[in-house]
Amino acid sequence: MPDGPERPALQGRSSSTRLDSYVDRYAARTRGMTASEIRALFSVASRPEVVSLAGGMPNISGLPLDVVGRAISDLVATNGPVAMQYGSGQGDPALREQICDVMRLEGIEAHPDDVVVTVGSQQAVDLVTRIFCDPGDVVLCEAPSYVGALGVFRAYECDVVHVEMDGDGLVPGALRDAIAVVRAAGRTIKFLYTIPNFHNPAGVTLSEERRREILAICREADVLVLEDNPYGLLGFSGEPRRAMRADEPAGVIYLGSFSKTFAPGFRVGWALAPHAVREKLVLAQESATLCPPAFSQLAISAYLRAHDWQGQVKQFREMYRERRDAMVEALDDMMPAAARWNVPDGGFYVWLTLPDGLDAKAMLPRAVSARVAYVPGTAFFADGFGSQSMRLSFCYPTPERIREGVRRLVGVIEEELELRATFGSGGHPFALDRGYQAPRPDLT
Ligand code: PMP
Repeated sequence: MPDGPERPALQGRSSSTRLDSYVDRYAARTRGMTASEIRALFSVASRPEVVSLAGGMPNISGLPLDVVGRAISDLVATNGPVAMQYGSGQGDPALREQICDVMRLEGIEAHPDDVVVTVGSQQAVDLVTRIFCDPGDVVLCEAPSYVGALGVFRAYECDVVHVEMDGDGLVPGALRDAIAVVRAAGRTIKFLYTIPNFHNPAGVTLSEERRREILAICREADVLVLEDNPYGLLGFSGEPRRAMRADEPAGVIYLGSFSKTFAPGFRVGWALAPHAVREKLVLAQESATLCPPAFSQLAISAYLRAHDWQGQVKQFREMYRERRDAMVEALDDMMPAAARWNVPDGGFYVWLTLPDGLDAKAMLPRAVSARVAYVPGTAFFADGFGSQSMRLSFCYPTPERIREGVRRLVGVIEEELELRATFGSGGHPFALDRGYQAPRPDLT
């Protein structure tokens, strides 16, 4: 390469210093946008020698790719110009009808006009927050809560107030108290964000009785409910639970997704909202993306029409149940008695609490050296709690790898316990089974 003129302005500047020079120009709201602990883990956890119990990636190895391939090829041949074109901001009408059929499995009677298709349910969380929340508004969330939703709430500069949950899900009395405390401080609650089925990350399911109680509390206090339900059809026993939206059409925005029942690569989810809210959601969707991807929507629509998709979901359930069993058996066999965990009845996750004094985040580098990864509990709290806990995902590795992962994890925990016996350590607060003691939210 011939010598060119020198470019002194860039000489000696690393890409990170160049990035840093933008810091003062970013909008204030970007201060809340930081890489989640899960994201930071991905590069390490995806090395083949590491057993990752960290990520929540659906295991799509059982998908009939030949069937999907044929459906897509037919779609391109017969309806290509529509699939390749911009579409409606609200989403494809035929798919919205099919989405209503899917929701009927959870007792929801809805009209396709009230469904807005989104780019995964993640975008639905974003759009709902965008249309409701000003900086400083309060969103009530379970303790712990889904890391991706906490990221959205932070990005819109909302204050998250966590509400205690236990083995039956969100605790109604704690919800009542949280509403009173926030309002007494003169602050505005915009909605309760809740994951009633096979919670991410806690693995628990809201009992039927509590669903009614929580809806009654929210109705009385005039608090909107955002019901996020990507795992609802992935229960390991009995029929799908009745959605909260089924009993409270006016007070609940319901979010669904094809990521776990079909494939996340299409990035198709949806929001079902009261009619007036639906109008605003469509406007927000249009300003964000113009329209959700036509190709993905038509491909999913063709798959739902041509394939026994419910049979496929049943296979997913059986596969995940086998993995859940492998994890729980391994924990029962190997974990020290002082550790505690729950047995989820569906979904992807077990929430494990370490023996007193251990810190899941501090322990993580040692775990990764021992070739096992998990997500420390602190990722799922907006207020720094959760250090004694971790989320273990059983969705992706094989049962044998899950067992091996638990064996490695137990080795690390035993080492930590020995270190603690030698050097001592303070205890840590913990949520779920000991009761989340919400720190008085800083509402100033
Ligand atoms: N909500 C919850 C509770 C989730 O666990 C996830 C994915 N992990 C999402 C929403 C987003 O899923 P998607 O955008 O793929 O529909």
